[in-house]
Amino acid sequence: MKQVTKGNRAVREGHPTRMTDPEPFAEDLKEESRLRPPSLAEFIGQAVIREQLEIFLGAARRRGEAMDHVLFHGPPGLGKTTLAAIVAHELGVEITHTSGPVIEKPGDLAGLLTNLPPRGILFVDEIHRLSPVVEEYLYPALEDFAVDILLDRGPSARSLKLNLEHFTLVGATTRSGLLSAPLRSRFGMTLRLDYYGVEDLAGIVRRSAGILAVEISPDAAQEIASRARGTPRVVNRLLRRVRDFALIKADGRITLPVTREALRLLEVDERGLDEMDRRLLEALISKYQGGPVGLTTLAVVVGEEAGTLEDVYEPFLIQEGFLKRTARGREATPLAYTHLGYPAPASAGAPTVRGAGGQSELPLP
Ligand code: ADP
Repeated sequence: MKQVTKGNRAVREGHPTRMTDPEPFAEDLKEESRLRPPSLAEFIGQAVIREQLEIFLGAARRRGEAMDHVLFHGPPGLGKTTLAAIVAHELGVEITHTSGPVIEKPGDLAGLLTNLPPRGILFVDEIHRLSPVVEEYLYPALEDFAVDILLDRGPSARSLKLNLEHFTLVGATTRSGLLSAPLRSRFGMTLRLDYYGVEDLAGIVRRSAGILAVEISPDAAQEIASRARGTPRVVNRLLRRVRDFALIKADGRITLPVTREALRLLEVDERGLDEMDRRLLEALISKYQGGPVGLTTLAVVVGEEAGTLEDVYEPFLIQEGFLKRTARGREATPLAYTHLGYPAPASAGAPTVRGAGGQSELPLP
């Protein structure tokens, strides 16, 4: 899928082919700005993060200093960009948006840094994609608020040390494991966003419906929330599509039957799995007897990039208990078998316990 840069944000062109794709498409960004909560008070869910941020923001405000650098990490569509904007709003300072792949050379970064106002925020999305030379250049800026500017090239090259305003770097990444240890250690705070519960997502649906001026029944909000893969971006996208459906096929009001019918057309099932998820699980079960299968093999079979499978599809399937990631590869769980209408395999019926972070699973003794 082609990526384009909108502002300083990498997005995918056109409309999503998968309703439940958590990555932003050009269409989403246009609509999302209206739906983005502007303040911490309007930000729904992620209670622990909200509480921690309130303390850090309060302390920075009281001291009148720039807030410590902060890293948000977690799957796409959970609110990292939103929180960066909220931090700026709550501190009453300017925010400059950029992203790792957009900063090609140290000069680009120097340009951004020297333009920051006192206590300003530099938001770097996809920070794991900064090149090593840019990253190296960032360190003194983060620690000493100073950068070296190269004045000439070749043998007569001289450099000038330039002091910067005290600023806050807000980094966002979906892959914190790819961040170098030196960069990671320069953040004063690292906050991990997790998938949202259905109640919080239903709250987001009701709030968004209010902004879009569409009437929605509580059970319809709950239904959309329960199929949105724990992701606010997906919940908002489903809401917009159900709203369109309600307008054309009903009287414009979003009721439970209208919602169910719209989601059936969109091929989002009652557990939030879409056609691609089902294809992946189906391949594991029907071609590989449920696994284990290596990630790259699986990626070839379903025609997706291994990185996308790992970052976008798997976390949700693992969290929901459809897939296991083991040392030997990916395995379908008994739940995947029954959900797709297969009889549960005899050997897969043994109870399992989830390992740390859901990354590995061990049979109970
Ligand atoms: P990320 O940067 O993690 O990919 P974004 O911050 O762009 O995600 O969020 C995607 C969309 O989801 C935003 O338009 C925003 O409206 C909505 N959103 C995210 N988190 C929340 C939340 N906690 N409450 C309400 N809306 C949210």
